[in-house]
Parts: sequence; structure tokens; C-alpha cells
Amino acid sequence: MAKEKSYGFKTPVRRTTKNISGNKVGGDLTGSESEIILAKRLHLEGNYSAEFLIPKSEAIGLFNSTIAIAAIGGYFISNKNIEIVLSITINGISTKSQYALNKGHFEAIGHDFEVDLLTEFENANAKIEFILTEPAIVEYTHFSKGFISKEELVLSEDAYKHYSNSKKRICFPEQFYFNENILINGSNKGSLIFTKSCNRCQRYLPINPYNQRQQLAFSNHCTTKAPCTHNGFSIYEVISKEVDDKIILNSFTNEFDKGYLYNGNTIKSYFGHQLECKACKKFFVNAALNHLRSSSQHREDALRRRAFELLSCNLLGLKWVYHEFREKTGLEFDKFIYDKFGKKCFKCDNPIANANEMHLDHTMPLSHLYPLDETATCLCAGCNLAKSDIFPVDFYPEEKLKTLSAITGIPIEIISSRTPNEKALIKLKENVKWVVEDFLTHPEYIKERDGKIAADSILHSIQKAINNSPNSYNLLEEYDKIKGLIS
Ligand SMILES: [Zn+2]
Ligand SMILES: [Zn+2]
Ligand SMILES: [Zn+2]
Repeated sequence: MAKEKSYGFKTPVRRTTKNISGNKVGGDLTGSESEIILAKRLHLEGNYSAEFLIPKSEAIGLFNSTIAIAAIGGYFISNKNIEIVLSITINGISTKSQYALNKGHFEAIGHDFEVDLLTEFENANAKIEFILTEPAIVEYTHFSKGFISKEELVLSEDAYKHYSNSKKRICFPEQFYFNENILINGSNKGSLIFTKSCNRCQRYLPINPYNQRQQLAFSNHCTTKAPCTHNGFSIYEVISKEVDDKIILNSFTNEFDKGYLYNGNTIKSYFGHQLECKACKKFFVNAALNHLRSSSQHREDALRRRAFELLSCNLLGLKWVYHEFREKTGLEFDKFIYDKFGKKCFKCDNPIANANEMHLDHTMPLSHLYPLDETATCLCAGCNLAKSDIFPVDFYPEEKLKTLSAITGIPIEIISSRTPNEKALIKLKENVKWVVEDFLTHPEYIKERDGKIAADSILHSIQKAINNSPNSYNLLEEYDKIKGLIS
């Protein structure tokens, strides 16, 4: 069989950005490795602030939507009681989080700002302010800023619920999935601290050397049954150290939590820590988003679906329906559709226990450029799987089609047709250059995964949809023209 033509997306023509996740998945780290590092230190005489640019070009839609999140955060400790204010400003709108840092207490702090990629916006500006009443020495580690780009969060709609729930601060800043340690102006080398690996995101993140029960990036393993006797959870092999052993041993004798032991090669922790960082635990263990890493086929499908959702929203000038709906009506979109369909599956009529168990179907298929909107159908898991990406006319008997037209407001002639979204197709034709040069060159589409470039398969899938239109045209040819492949 002839190989499908590759459209050469290997060469990004526009943006450059960090790789999508910033962190590997499934590497060698088991969660039982440690690095002994130096914190960074700031000598502050009075109030002090520093600003950081978060370039718009790094913004990427998360949760299979057009929502991007700018964030800033890190782990801080001070020798005096101080306050730290983290803020982010986009288009003149500022949001902030304020933290009281009690002396001698290591704290994880962070702040984030959601922005819709379909709105015009400027670069984000992040700011950290230290408010003090007397001079203080502040130490910090893993301080970072940026747009969140964790691959699984990019692909998963479900993750939004887990990301935005009210307890999110218990996971700041590790759920930003940054892995940098940027300098706040004027800082220098500080005290020893240690980090531990996360066996899922493969980052080294700090554990609190001064008090194990004030957890930083990892929760304790055994608390009521301490000491933790589970080796992997409580004994960490020291992979690297930034200073010599004498200083480290001295810290263990004089400064660090006496619940830690150090023998030159390993650190033993009294309470032990989880193998996954708090963010991985939250997203990929407790929230069971684990399937997202398992199959590359699944990931490819999810990417393509996401691209179609974004593309059709963009072309039609729509915003992400969840966001839009809440803004407009104050209601949750899921709940609205669930109630509208009488809390049961439209296809098989079986009751559905709650809105979370409902499967939202696009009604008219996404593969034909119909984005998710208020015309969605409430289905059970089984019926949604069966419906997949096919047209309603191929799935429901005629009577049901009429009812569905009445409930959703989709005109009967459209709901009984097998034609793609003509409005979107007209816009697509008008904006071919944008699709080719801008939309399809997004870093997540031109990244090679398992030898495939998502942009290639997206392009071919769009052409398939166009072919079903009475006004079909050759997008692939347009593409070649724009790329100068043919004259
Ligand atoms: Zn992790
Ligand atoms: Zn344990
Ligand atoms: Zn059903």
C-alpha cells in the first residue's frame, strides 16, 4: 500500500516553544532517588518585587479546549514572618494570590491565570512581591513561571475538573509541571535542601528537610504507622550532591528534621513519601487519567479531535462551550444538557445517575467540523461509543430524529443530512493560508510522535470532511500551492 504523502511538518515555520510536557513519562526514575542541592537565597532589606515575562507564544490550549493557563510559583522559606504576593497580568487584568510565610516554615506557593486563546491577548506579566516589616533572608527552590503545557492536561477534558477544583492550592506549584529553577534578581547560593524523584513525571522535586510533616511536593507515606518500613518509599538513593559530605552530615546532625538519616549514599525518611509527586498523584492516580499515557493511538485520536474542536471554534468565531456557557448563564454546561434530556440516555432511554456519568455527544459529528455546543446529546457510555463520529441519520430511527431535532434545535433538514458544517467550510476556504501557516504549525501538531506528524493526519481528515460537501474543493492542493510545492 502506498504511504500517505507527508506534508513535511517536521520543519516548524513559525513559533518555537519548549517541548510539550517539559517532563518525560515512563523514564528510569523510580521515586526513590534524591539529589542534594542548594536553595537560592535573597537578602531583603525591605519590600522587594521582581517581574517576569511569560511570552504569549508559549500559550497552549489545555483540557482539549482553548483555555491556556499562565502560572508562577515555587517553594519558599524565610527567617522572618513575611508575606509573598504572586500576581499575573494579562491585557491589564491582574489576579493575585497572597501568602503569609511564617518564619522557619517551608511553603509551596503558586498562582495561575486562565486565558482563552480565542480572545486577543498580550504577553502575560508575572510578578512576585515580598512584603516585610524587617530585613529577612528568604530561600527558595524550583521557582518558575510559564504557560502550563503538560501533555496529558492538553489532551484531557476531564482534567479540567481536577485542575480547577477548590482544593487546587494543596498542589501548588507542582501541578504547573514546570521543572525550572529561575533566579529572582540578586539571589545567590543558600542552604542545603533535598529533592526526590517522582516516578511518573520524572522530575526531582523538593521534600521538606526541616519538617517532614509539612509536606512539599510529596505526601507522606506512613503517618499513623510510622516509621515507614516500605523501602522504596522511605529510602532514597542520593544520585548527586552539590556540596561535600562533611557539610551534608553536619546539616543532618544540626539542622535537618531528626526523622531523616543519612549514610553518605542514602537518605532514610521516618514517614516516607509517596512515589508520585502530589500533582501526579492527583491527576494520574486518584483522578484515573492514567489511560492518557497508555496508547499512542488514543493520544493521536485525542489530538486530532482537539484540533478539530479548535479549528471549528476558530473558524466559526466561537469560544469553548464550557467556559462560554458558564459566563453567559452561570450554569454548568454538562448539567444543562443532562437536565434537558431528562437525565437519561437519548438513544436507549436508560436513566443516567448524574451529569458526571453522562457522555456528551456532539450530535452532528466533530469530524465534519461541528464543534461541541448547546446542541449536544446526552448519551450513556455504551451508546456514545456506538455513536462515535457518525451522523444522527445513520444512528437514530426517523421518529427519534424528529424528537432530537426538537430538543436540540437543529433543523430537521440538517439533522437528517450527511453534509459537513457548511459555515465552517466556507470560512475554511477563506482562511486556507491561516490554516496552513498558522493553525497547523502549532508545536503540538508538528511534533513527531511514533514517526507520525499529527498535522498530516489532521489535514487529511479535514479533506475527508470537505469531500462530503456539495461544494467540495481540494485543500491538499491549496496546501501545496501555499507551500510552493506546486506552482
Ligand atoms: Zn510527578
Ligand atoms: Zn510506608
Ligand atoms: Zn444509552
